[in-house]
Amino acid sequence: MGQIIIAIDGHSSCGKSTLARSLAQEFQYKHIDSGAMYRAVTYHFLEHKINIQDEDTVKVLLEDIDLQLENNSAASTLLYLNGRQLDSELRSQEVNHHVSQVASISAVRKKLVLIQREQGRTSGVVMDGRDIGTVVFPDAQLKLFLTADQKVRTKRRYEELQAKNLLRDLTWGDIEDNLRSRDEIDSNRLDSPLRVAEDAVVIDNSNLTRAEQNAMTACLARQRGA
Ligand code: C5P
Repeated sequence: MGQIIIAIDGHSSCGKSTLARSLAQEFQYKHIDSGAMYRAVTYHFLEHKINIQDEDTVKVLLEDIDLQLENNSAASTLLYLNGRQLDSELRSQEVNHHVSQVASISAVRKKLVLIQREQGRTSGVVMDGRDIGTVVFPDAQLKLFLTADQKVRTKRRYEELQAKNLLRDLTWGDIEDNLRSRDEIDSNRLDSPLRVAEDAVVIDNSNLTRAEQNAMTACLARQRGA
């Protein structure tokens, strides 16, 4: 079995991380959820009440950030920010609201892309995000771009939050607005906008079951040498 790089990009709430975990488990690869890294930086800025428009302060605070990634047996990314493990904090509404703005700051992207590339140096890796096939690993052997109907994505996100007891007073409309606005900011930012890489396989999973999607993508990965 080879050790390829599988890059998964796409719109918000298309199940990129779920697919990435499943492929990582199938091929015994490492899974890196790059979105969690942008979320961690956002969480840090919010915690320190940083004005994210203030580039100089952002740069100084970035230097203080040490991000460590680990994979557990379920191929979930464990993320440590300055030694402290972050998990559900990264999915808060506040982080959801600010993360795309933080992710459009070039200094932030520069720092995180370096860490992401380092993760791909050693062994088979499945990384999901927005610029993995276009910027982080332009030579990845397999690039997937996931998308799905907006309503389907909102429903999935709503049910996910409900299952985790994180819905609180959020409405369907709040969730839909957040997905739409993140996609818009991610697609229109100057640095590394969300784009379909030329050689990516585009999958609209609106009407696919997880099993169908897993089987189809695992087959592609095998063809590309996994
Ligand atoms: O994947 P997830 O939805 O957790 O990502 C959160 C946000 O992080 C995205 O909406 C996007 O703004 C940013 N992101 C990014 N580049 C990546 C991964 C995530 O800009 N590679």
